[in-house]
Amino acid sequence: MTMTTTELTPPPHKPALIGKTMDELKALVKEMGHPAFRGEQLHQWLYVHCKRDFAEMNNLSKSFRTELAERYQVGVLELVSRQVSKDGTRKYLFKLPDGEVIESVLMHYEDRNSYAICLSSQVGCAMNCSFCATGKLGLTRHMTSAEIVDQYVFVQHDSGAEIRNVVFMGQGEPLHNYDETVKAIRILNNSAEVGMRRMTVSTSGLVDAIDRLGTEIFPITLALSLHAPDNETRDKIMPLNRKYPLEKLIPALHRYLDHTGRRLTMEYIMIDGLNDTPQHAHRLGRLLHGLKANVNLIPYNPISKDLPNLPDYKRSRREVIDLFQRIVQEQYFKKVTVRVERGSDIDAACGQLANRYNQAKETVEQPAVNLPFALV
Ligand code: SAH
Ligand code: SF4
Repeated sequence: MTMTTTELTPPPHKPALIGKTMDELKALVKEMGHPAFRGEQLHQWLYVHCKRDFAEMNNLSKSFRTELAERYQVGVLELVSRQVSKDGTRKYLFKLPDGEVIESVLMHYEDRNSYAICLSSQVGCAMNCSFCATGKLGLTRHMTSAEIVDQYVFVQHDSGAEIRNVVFMGQGEPLHNYDETVKAIRILNNSAEVGMRRMTVSTSGLVDAIDRLGTEIFPITLALSLHAPDNETRDKIMPLNRKYPLEKLIPALHRYLDHTGRRLTMEYIMIDGLNDTPQHAHRLGRLLHGLKANVNLIPYNPISKDLPNLPDYKRSRREVIDLFQRIVQEQYFKKVTVRVERGSDIDAACGQLANRYNQAKETVEQPAVNLPFALV
């Protein structure tokens, strides 16, 4: 059999429109010889109606739609798989233009009847937290703002859900990819009309970037992955703590609050025997004294046993979590919530789906291998 060139090389990607601002779209449309208001219409179709096919943009002329389709593609993401949990959670696995794979999660909150999306900001992560599946991957690369925003647009289109909240809690450390994350926040706000107050950025505590974010004065929520109330415990599970120990991190949070006035969220993983004793609860209460912050306790999600260098962590018992919550709440007057687990019947912890995909991909040449997730 002779192979044609098209079999050997995948079709070239056309430039994508997602990621462009209203002004950039207007300029692009003008350059194609059309009036600028067509750029506004196109902008609406892309970010508000979330259409993925130019043919559906029916207030644009047919010839203009054809011209657009010849020169551009809408988004940058390619769907690899979609898992739907019994509780309505959906996990999406996406391929980026260079073949890297990331995940996004759509979560349904029954009590509020609303949806939130969890976005990835990097392929892998450099922070190497001991409890995190993504950390085991190391950092492959930062994601572009277009790749970050397209997760929202794609999932909005695919699910038909009205997504109310956006959280940067997927793969990666958003503040390590500062410029593209901030650009994505601006596009989500200005173009996709997601209110700043409905966005949360979660960080492991990059002090310099927290200071920089404070100067943007975005009314977003900053969630800080604290996970331990003392340097000794935090050093063990978060290598970043050696660079930015608590005596640097906590003042940075106070400075951030001085700039923005927005209440912080402290995320705290509950790992059996490691950071969950009443002494830890008292230390946490004292550490947070005078800081406008709520606490969110996250029962540890066991990560895949196939990953290298796995510590033998277990999730804290329910009564231990309850006691911890009571101490911080009743004796230190912080609001403490316990995170409800979602999508436990599909793939548990953050970063697991893409990890499993990468492992399966390595053996994909062998005929008997099935990908360990369902294509729905
Ligand atoms: N890099 C950022 C955001 C992505 S991680 C950060 O660390 O904040 C999002 C959240 O998931 C963080 O609070 C992180 O600590 C938590 N997480 C990671 N692995 C987990 C696990 N195995 N169980 C429970 N939570 C986990
Ligand atoms: Fe990176 Fe966050 Fe995972 Fe730590 S918890 S390795 S910072 S993604």
